[in-house]
Amino acid sequence: MDLTFTDAEERFRAECRAWLTANVPRGLPSGDTREGFALHLEWERALFDARYAVVSWPEAYGGRDATPMEWLIFEEEYYRAGGPQRVTQNGIFLLAPTVFEFGTQAQRDHILPRMARADDLWCQGWSEPNAGSDLAGIQSRAVRDDRARGWRLSGQKTWTTRGAFCTHLFGLFRSDPETERHRGLTYFLVPLDADGVTVRGFGRLDGDEGFAEVFFDNVFVADDAVLGEVDQGWSVAMATTSVERGLTLRSPGRFLAAVDRLVELARHYADTAGPNLRDAVVRAYIDAEAYRWQTFLTVTRMTDGEDVGSESSLTKVFWSELDVRIHEAALGLLGPNAEIGDNPWIKGYQFALSGPIYAGTNEIQRNVIAERVLGLPRR
Ligand SMILES: Cc1cc2nc3c(=O)[nH]c(=O)nc-3n(C[C@H](O)[C@H](O)[C@H](O)COP(=O)(O)OP(=O)(O)OC[C@H]3O[C@@H](n4cnc5c(N)ncnc54)[C@H](O)[C@@H]3O)c2cc1C
Repeated sequence: MDLTFTDAEERFRAECRAWLTANVPRGLPSGDTREGFALHLEWERALFDARYAVVSWPEAYGGRDATPMEWLIFEEEYYRAGGPQRVTQNGIFLLAPTVFEFGTQAQRDHILPRMARADDLWCQGWSEPNAGSDLAGIQSRAVRDDRARGWRLSGQKTWTTRGAFCTHLFGLFRSDPETERHRGLTYFLVPLDADGVTVRGFGRLDGDEGFAEVFFDNVFVADDAVLGEVDQGWSVAMATTSVERGLTLRSPGRFLAAVDRLVELARHYADTAGPNLRDAVVRAYIDAEAYRWQTFLTVTRMTDGEDVGSESSLTKVFWSELDVRIHEAALGLLGPNAEIGDNPWIKGYQFALSGPIYAGTNEIQRNVIAERVLGLPRR
C-alpha cells in the first residue's frame, strides 16, 4: 500500500483547511436542543453553499465527487478546525448511502438534493419499546391500501435521535403479518408532518431534548415511500447499519482531533499526571492513529471492490471504546477541575458512554464478530 497522499489529495486538504479555518463557527450550543439545532442548520447550509456538506456525493446532488480518501481528508480537516457535530448526520451519512444503493432514480433525484441542502432533516426509526438489540422483533405495522396505492403505518418508535427537530423518518415496519423476524419487513421513508404522526421529544440524561418517541396512527404513505423491495426491508436496513457501524458515522478525524486536545491537556497537567495517566494518554493517541490507518486500509479494500460486511462491527467496537478511553483520560487529568464551570470534557464523556449502546450495542457487535467474522458456533 502506498502510504503517501497524492498531490491532488494534498491540494484538496489545503483547500478544505483554508475554508474551514475561516468559516467554522465557534461556541455553538448543543445541536440536541431546539435553539441549538436551528443554529446548527445555519452552519449546515453554509457548508452546502460552499459545497462542503456532502463532499463525496456526485456534483449533481450538491457534492464534489470526492473519493473515499478525500472524504476522510475532509473529515480530518473538519474536526481539526473544531467543526461542530453534524446534526444532519442520520440523513447524509446513514440514509443517503442506502438511497444511492437501493433508491429509484426518482427517489434519488427528489430526496438527495433536499437532504444535502438541509431542507429535509432525517431521523432513524429502528428502535421500539420492545425492540432494540432484537431489531427483528419490531411490531410497527404497514398495511397495504390498494385503493389509495400506498400503505397505512401504525406503531411506535423510540430513542429517535433529534426526532423532535427533524422533518422525515426512515424506519422499518412489518408489512407481512404472516411472517416473523427478519422476513416480511419493509423500509419506509415517512414525512413527519403526515396525518396521524405524533412526535414527542424527551430529555436525555444530560438534559438535552435529544430523543423523541414517534407514534404512527394509521398514517398513509404512497408507494414511493418504500425504499428497496416490499418485504425485503431487512437487507436494506442492514446496508444502513453497516455504514453506520463501519465508516461514515464516526470517521477517524473526530478522534484524532479529540486526542490532540487530550495531549494539550496532558501538557497543561504535566506536573500532576502520574504514570498511569500518562500511559492512558499515550494509549489513546496510539489508538486514534491506529484507527486512522486501519480506516485507510478499509477504504482501500472497499475501493478495490471488497465487501467489508460484518467487519464493520469490529470498527464500531473499536471507536466507541476508544472514545470512552479518551474522555476517561481527560477526566483523570482534570481531576476535580472537571466539575468547575461547563467543562466540555464532561459533556463529551456523558455522550461517549452512549457509544457502546447506539448503532447496536457492543455486546451485539461481539456476537456478530464471533459468528460472522470468526465463524464461531452460536453456542
Ligand atoms: C445516544 C443514543 C442514540 C440513539 N439513537 C437512536 C435512533 O436515532 N434511532 C433508533 O432507532 N434507536 C436509537 N437508539 C437506540 C439504540 O439503538 C438502542 O438503545 C440499542 O439498540 C439497544 O437497544 P435497547 O436500548 O432496547 O436495549 P436492549 O436491547 O434491551 O439491551 C439491554 C442490554 O442487553 C444486552 N443484550 C441484548 N441482547 C443481547 C444478546 N443477544 N447478546 C448479548 N447481550 C445482549 C445489550 O447489549 C444491552 O446491554 C439510540 C441509543 C442511544 C444511546
